[in-house]
Amino acid sequence: MMSTKVTDIKRKRQKGRRTPPVDLSRVASGVRLILEGIGEDPNREGLLDTPKRVAEMYAELTAGMREDAAEHIVPLSGNKHDEMVIVKDISIASLCEHHLAPFVGKCHIAYIPKNGKILGVSKLARLAETFARRLQLQERLTSEIANTLFEHLQPIGVMVVIEAEHTCMTLRGVKKPGATTVTSAVLGGFRKDSRTRAEAMSLIVGK
Ligand SMILES: [Zn+2]
Repeated sequence: MMSTKVTDIKRKRQKGRRTPPVDLSRVASGVRLILEGIGEDPNREGLLDTPKRVAEMYAELTAGMREDAAEHIVPLSGNKHDEMVIVKDISIASLCEHHLAPFVGKCHIAYIPKNGKILGVSKLARLAETFARRLQLQERLTSEIANTLFEHLQPIGVMVVIEAEHTCMTLRGVKKPGATTVTSAVLGGFRKDSRTRAEAMSLIVGK
């Protein structure tokens, strides 16, 4: 009885990742300061609800901080599939941790199942979303999705490719609008076998 309790507590802690809930009023005060700082009047009519709205938006865009991504890795039962699976064009929206500005794009996930363990498309999308809804770097987002899938589904190999447009670059004239950054993470069999890796890459890129 006692040991069950301890396990439950451990599980709960892990699940919540010890990340406190979003303090909406604190975020809203910060947004009010930004408005003042840029020379706006936070009390003018059009801006009255802006701090609250922005706080709620950030709560939503960082919801993945309070979720356990591994929870989405529940294999479909009764499968014997052991050929490469590729899920293309999973839409992702994340926040760059250097500017708190959105970067949006597509995530492509390829894996080679082991013992017929495959994942539903919606679970893969939820996995990507859980990591995207945090303050991120595109490189880290890519490897976190790949590592978690590799660790918890235990497939033969995983490859994750993300193509994204960073508003912190495209809106500020550092790069031309429409410029995309491509990142990839390659694990297991894909790493060892260059032919399989090339095959997956051509299936992903060949739209
Ligand atoms: Zn940035």
